[in-house]
Amino acid sequence: MPVMPAAFFGHGNPMNALERNRYTEAWRAFGRSVPRPRAVLVVSAHWYVQATALTAMPRPRTIHDFYGFPRELFDVRYEPPGLPELYDEVADVVHPTWVGADVDSWGIDHGTWSVLRHAFPDADIPVVQLSINALKSFDYHLQLGAALAPLRERGVLVIGSGNVVHNLGGVSRALPDAGFDWAQRFDEAAKECMLTDPGNAGRLDGHRDFDLAVPTPDHFLPLLYVAGLAGATGTPVDVLVGGYAYGSLSMTAYTVGMDAPEPSGSGMAPQLPEGPPPDGANI
Ligand code: ZN
Repeated sequence: MPVMPAAFFGHGNPMNALERNRYTEAWRAFGRSVPRPRAVLVVSAHWYVQATALTAMPRPRTIHDFYGFPRELFDVRYEPPGLPELYDEVADVVHPTWVGADVDSWGIDHGTWSVLRHAFPDADIPVVQLSINALKSFDYHLQLGAALAPLRERGVLVIGSGNVVHNLGGVSRALPDAGFDWAQRFDEAAKECMLTDPGNAGRLDGHRDFDLAVPTPDHFLPLLYVAGLAGATGTPVDVLVGGYAYGSLSMTAYTVGMDAPEPSGSGMAPQLPEGPPPDGANI
């Protein structure tokens, strides 16, 4: 079985699930380029709870964890099988860190399905999610990411899904395809770190723009899992696609351990729904 790469995706606005643009085309190109995984393990910004848990149900449900978006987005179903037996393997590789088996609370949230609907449109590869423990330090998340690395040799594709820069309160509708200076500075610093020294990504909290770029840690933390995995194994990181949306979101995606496919798509990130800025809309 080939060693799987790993990846981080900036998932942005959930409308990406329905649209085609240069980001979603990059996600599709990624899915076409990777060897077929035995399972996909996703660390999504949207499962941010007070525990470390892995979904372990045979048929995870599609979760629509946002509001204020069109009906068609709530009608999306992304229903690959789960892989309950993966729980024992994950519990083993992360030991002595404890991970719970979630059989009935979560499923597949939009941080996962907005990307995987493009990367693996047939939904025939088993998908599990690993929660982000909100009580833990950056070092904990980096080390847990590093501990997941052996799964790559067992056909498991490890994915982080968040956004390096994610400030919904700072969204500007006048800048649908651009980033504020501070957003670009932070995203560039994160890129420098990911490409040269990903094991030190936890130190990005010392960057002068950190508080604006990462007002809450949920969308940033998935990056640390991928950074931890890359840093611990010395596996090269590459940029899959980069860009900004609405001033205060970066859409940067990274691959680990593969040649990123050449970008081929065009078009900017999808429009936000009408109304006030989506602060609190949980995207
Ligand atoms: Zn999100």
